Amino acid sequence: MLKVAKFGGSSVAGAEQFKKVKAIVDADPTRRVVVASAAGKRGKDDHKLTDLLYLCHAHLTYGVSCDEIWHTIEERLIGIRDELGLSLPIEEELSAYRRKLTKELSVDELVSRGEYFTSRLLAEYLGFTFVDAASCVFFGMDGTVDREKTDPAIASALKANGKILIPGFYGRLPSGRIKVMSRGGSDISGALAAAAVDADVYENWTDVSGILMADPRIVSEPKPIAHITFGELRELAFMGASVLHEESIQPVKDKGIPLNIRNTNRPEDPGTMIVESITEEEQNERFITGIAGRKNFSILTVIKHNMKLSSTLRSALEVFDRYNVPVEHITLGLDSFALVASTAALGDAVYDVIADIRKSCRPDNVELQEGISLVAAVGRKMSSRPGVSGRLFAALGEHGVNIRTIAQGADELAIIVGVANENFETAIRVMYDGFAG
Ligand code: ASP
Repeated sequence: MLKVAKFGGSSVAGAEQFKKVKAIVDADPTRRVVVASAAGKRGKDDHKLTDLLYLCHAHLTYGVSCDEIWHTIEERLIGIRDELGLSLPIEEELSAYRRKLTKELSVDELVSRGEYFTSRLLAEYLGFTFVDAASCVFFGMDGTVDREKTDPAIASALKANGKILIPGFYGRLPSGRIKVMSRGGSDISGALAAAAVDADVYENWTDVSGILMADPRIVSEPKPIAHITFGELRELAFMGASVLHEESIQPVKDKGIPLNIRNTNRPEDPGTMIVESITEEEQNERFITGIAGRKNFSILTVIKHNMKLSSTLRSALEVFDRYNVPVEHITLGLDSFALVASTAALGDAVYDVIADIRKSCRPDNVELQEGISLVAAVGRKMSSRPGVSGRLFAALGEHGVNIRTIAQGADELAIIVGVANENFETAIRVMYDGFAG
């Protein structure tokens, strides 16, 4: 058994959090690969090291002294070291680095130091070998991770050292320079490490006990999701649930490695297990898996009696393409179809789109509805239960929520309803109470 454990910024925010991480790692000797983010916020008014480093760079760019910010960063790191009684001579390294802080220093190199120094400290504290991401995570010429070089480099570092700690978020370009990933990218580094060493599980330790069935700002105390498939997760994320960095899923999904989201502050909670497919027993746990939604869509309905659906629809889609507006959903009727797109993506082009559709589709009418929210009930069980949509619509109707459009994914993983923006929260609550509570 081999586990890769990635700890996010809040899990390594200070000495107290380091202690929790050590307890988690020590509790299971199969956790032999650790990936760490840069120290995050310790509280509401605190700052992430990464944000401070970006700020430092902005000061350098404008020729303003970044001494004060750098000092805050130094204090933070030295504080962790001293509180934990570690011996890493970090002052020397930090002051050597301080001398490198000029306009010429690349922003990627500078911000990567958050992960670098946090990981150096954590490696000493855990008794793991520090393996610099610059020596085992490689980007190709196109800026994407070169798995053919990266995978064997991580695997052999593990083989040579037994227990390794890799800083997340960055790697090395073919030129030798450092490149960082997009924000939240340590999730990706963790997934790459898990895929590289063929881990049995990729644990992603954060500050919540897994993915919740609905947004806790809308539904009070939603239940956590125990098991979810990668497919369902994609639907939920697409519909607005913020979970993991999207690119972090592919490497583990491809290898069939389960991804377990865990809470560093509540290690006793099992968290959410994300897997390729789900057993019958897990299927029976719950009727739907989760609910998510997004606001501010527009629906463009094209009405044309006796139309040849395929060609009229194609012409309409071509217009959207021409204006670079992605169509999120399509619903079809006999004499009409409706295209749903984000209002922001349509922007002022909406009137040109309508004019062009009038020209190319020659419809009887084109109607535009704005201020629409899409709310999705996601769940693999829905397809096998007759009458789900009926129950759902009845429940919404009882609460005075008027449904403007309905879409169901072809794989029946989600039922999506369009409602007025002002009904967004009610629709989510009604769906949660009716199907999840
Ligand atoms: N430290 C980086 C960020 O704040 C990467 C990460 O935490 O995953 O975005």
